[in-house]
Amino acid sequence: KKMALPVPAQPVEVQELATSFNELLQTVNDHAVQERQFTSNAAHELRTPIAAILTHVQLLKRRAAEHPEIVSQSIDYIGEESVRMKKLVDSLLTLSRADRAVLKLEPTDLVAAAQAVVTREAALIKQPLTLHGDPTVLALGDIESIEQILTALIDNAAKYSSATAPITVDVRSTPAGQRITVRDQGLGISDDQKAHVFERFYRVDTARTPEIAGTGLGLAIVAQLVNLNRGTISIKDNQPRGSQFVLTLPRVPQSEKISE
Ligand code: ADP
Repeated sequence: KKMALPVPAQPVEVQELATSFNELLQTVNDHAVQERQFTSNAAHELRTPIAAILTHVQLLKRRAAEHPEIVSQSIDYIGEESVRMKKLVDSLLTLSRADRAVLKLEPTDLVAAAQAVVTREAALIKQPLTLHGDPTVLALGDIESIEQILTALIDNAAKYSSATAPITVDVRSTPAGQRITVRDQGLGISDDQKAHVFERFYRVDTARTPEIAGTGLGLAIVAQLVNLNRGTISIKDNQPRGSQFVLTLPRVPQSEKISE
């Protein structure tokens, strides 16, 4: 039951107005459908850990007295599922905050930002991680969110690669803008999936990676943060294997450089 204004023979301006109004209605409609889908996905994702926790709580209530050996296993399950739920809720909060956020974009040293993230991440992941590129690359952006984007990309590169496959971060100035590329030699992403991985809750064929936990929200957050920084992000195949995530940020305008 879509509302549509009739578009009678009218002066051009009126026709144009009616057409734009119909387009606006369509956008509002699409947005409402997406919101419903999002809420239903979020509820569904939260339900799984909650159900597991309830099952184990009941098990503990009924059986713990007679079977003390199940106690520590059940408590471990409850702990793991609670962590999963916390991650999901944290991601949902980050998404909803980023929805409303306005960032102060300032001249930012991308090499220093990448160096900070690489140092932190190298201690957390198994794969060898190295930084390459130009000695200094200035972009207009928000350093905190740029570090958040890089952290998410490196975390994913590590998650979807074997423990020995090297990961590289490359920072350089290009004619198209200031660029950070994260390359891995992991599973790779097929062309038809590349278009979808930035969608909320989207995960590529989880059957191929049943042991890798995730929410499908990481790259949705990345996409929002990239937008807030007025940048772009794209995915390319890496050679001989794996993926490259290419983040491009605006240069610092000449006027801001002088005032610095
Ligand atoms: P998740 O929590 O599932 O990791 P993301 O939003 O971060 O969610 O990523 C969405 C999906 O994109 C992942 O489930 C995975 O299938 C795919 N993906 C993301 N990064 C990579 C990568 N570096 N290599 C291969 N697949 C990836």
